[in-house]
Amino acid sequence: MFTLAHRFREPPLSKRPSVTELEVHDIRFPTSEQLDGSDAMNPDPDYSAAYVVLRTDAGEGAAAAEGHGFVFTIGRGNDVTAAAIRSLRLHVVGRPAPLTAADLAALHRELTHDSQLRWLGPEKGVMHMAAGAVVNAAWDFAARQAGKPLWQFLAEMSPEELVELVDFRYLSDALTPEEALAILRAAEPGRAERAARLRERGYPAYTTSPGWLGYSDEKMIKLAQEAVADGFGQIKLKVGAELDEDLRRMRLAREAVGPDVRIAVDANQRWDVAEAVRWMSALAPYDPHWIEEPTSPDDILAHAAIRAGQPVKVATGEHVANRVVFKQLLQAEAVDFVQIDAARVAGVNENLTILLLAAKYGLPVCPHAGGVGLCELVQHLAMFDYVAVSGSWEDRVIEYVDHLHEHFADPVVVESGRYRAPTAPGFSARMYPESIAAYRYPDGPEWRTRLARPGTAPSAPAQPVPAPSAPAQPQEDHQ
Ligand SMILES: [Mg+2]
Repeated sequence: MFTLAHRFREPPLSKRPSVTELEVHDIRFPTSEQLDGSDAMNPDPDYSAAYVVLRTDAGEGAAAAEGHGFVFTIGRGNDVTAAAIRSLRLHVVGRPAPLTAADLAALHRELTHDSQLRWLGPEKGVMHMAAGAVVNAAWDFAARQAGKPLWQFLAEMSPEELVELVDFRYLSDALTPEEALAILRAAEPGRAERAARLRERGYPAYTTSPGWLGYSDEKMIKLAQEAVADGFGQIKLKVGAELDEDLRRMRLAREAVGPDVRIAVDANQRWDVAEAVRWMSALAPYDPHWIEEPTSPDDILAHAAIRAGQPVKVATGEHVANRVVFKQLLQAEAVDFVQIDAARVAGVNENLTILLLAAKYGLPVCPHAGGVGLCELVQHLAMFDYVAVSGSWEDRVIEYVDHLHEHFADPVVVESGRYRAPTAPGFSARMYPESIAAYRYPDGPEWRTRLARPGTAPSAPAQPVPAPSAPAQPQEDHQ
């Protein structure tokens, strides 16, 4: 009886949309066939998305009634990630659809503090990434309902609302709610001016397109020269397989772009400390702008030792599991650049936390992107940071890779080396239904054809892998 009486005091349900379905798709692109994305640690990635659609009753068939998000993976394991996303169904389906900062704070906490699922991390790995995909889908939905691109939706929240979104557990030795509030309040007076500047000029970008390890010298040089002609002030090369090869490629790249264009290098976790110091000391005469992921993303002390042991600045973050590791990297003075990734940690909320940590320690955030859809997502976070957190784009660049954007309904636009500020409502996460259908693994037509010819898809098993046994709603994957 109490329950009924209590319910009668709540607002009518018709005023509040509910989540009606959590739909999950295993989508893979056969990028390993062209060696796009190849590096010293990942020689044959098939760029993939464990893709989630939150459906609601906010409007029949309307785009604003859905929220889209995904975890980026590089092929095998995408099915594991999809299963992890499905396990979060009980926290969203049949529940009110999140619309406000308070709703999005509550959802983030619930998804990351399911005590049984948290055991699988805690707050790291596949389960944490799955929570991030659902959190990001919820943000896409809320921003669409508000009719704003995500960066603007966030940048128009009050400092108090933004602080409410942060989980400060384990952070108080580095960042308190009061300090976070002070950072956000300090940036508040310039928000409108910076938003106008962002819309007018776009946000600085750099490109990794020339630098994949599997590319020939000729292709690398051609793409590097094209990048400079296109207006990029920074490119990035993959390194870490053979030092002599890296010295040759670095020399050729430096000759191709001249002394004024920055060349970052990325070892994708390849080295131990001594090897990183030796390698980067050898490459230093070619003036690398940073060395990215020199060693294990979990090893804070090794990053600090590498930073101290050679002259090139250190960047990392795309595989950093959560805000706690970022905190330690900052406390240990182990990095010079903080590289957030939109789909590695638990969504917008945790990335807001990392942006605040970077602002507290005064380090520039240079987001990781590429893969499939990561550029589309992370641009919003960097632009929000510029407008409402750090207030600066000095020394800051978003990675750009010119792959797979054609599958997205609101693809990034990069002109003269800068990301144009998105204007469409939402998080730019939506893939076209045709692309989802074509590249769904293993039953989409693109994969059926390949899997029928053993040996033609390097990262796919010779025999089709059966669809993952879905504990709930197996028909979801076949809509
Ligand atoms: Mg990288």
